[in-house]
Amino acid sequence: MKRIAVFPGSFDPFTIGHESIVCRSLDLFDEIIVAVGKNSTKGSMFSLEKRIAWIQEIFKDVPKVSVDSYEGLTVEYCRKVEAGFILRGLRTSADFNYERPIAQMNKTMLYSVESIFMMTLPELSAISSTVIRDIVRNGGDASPFVPEAVKF
Ligand code: ADP
Repeated sequence: MKRIAVFPGSFDPFTIGHESIVCRSLDLFDEIIVAVGKNSTKGSMFSLEKRIAWIQEIFKDVPKVSVDSYEGLTVEYCRKVEAGFILRGLRTSADFNYERPIAQMNKTMLYSVESIFMMTLPELSAISSTVIRDIVRNGGDASPFVPEAVKF
């Protein structure tokens, strides 16, 4: 059976931290779907179309990686695309505390899906989309923190 992983997130915008998680996971899975969630509670700074286009451009030469968007529960999306894994990155204990109940509830809702956590590289652990949005909003240069394809 194909090992399909969903890497869900807002990716508002996609950062070199996200890129690193995907690249380091390539050997673990046959297919990685970067799934941009249409989050009802979080307003986004960048349009869904833009976020998807950026990610497509970043991975255009990596056939294992595709990009999609979804609405609703991540486990339902996993069921739809027949994914066996949910991939998430962990930067801090705060990330862990946030992710733990979600992963456990997801497991209860859909037993066939395993959540896989990858520890961020130390040099990337301070990078977050939130801080990047703040830099952009205030006219700073966020380019060191995002892949080249991401242009503000
Ligand atoms: P969400 O809105 O679901 O938290 P994000 O777009 O902020 O989505 O993040 C998607 C995933 O990428 C999450 O698992 C998050 O922990 C992880 N992530 C974010 N920034 C980094 C980073 N710098 N290094 C590793 N993982 C990261």
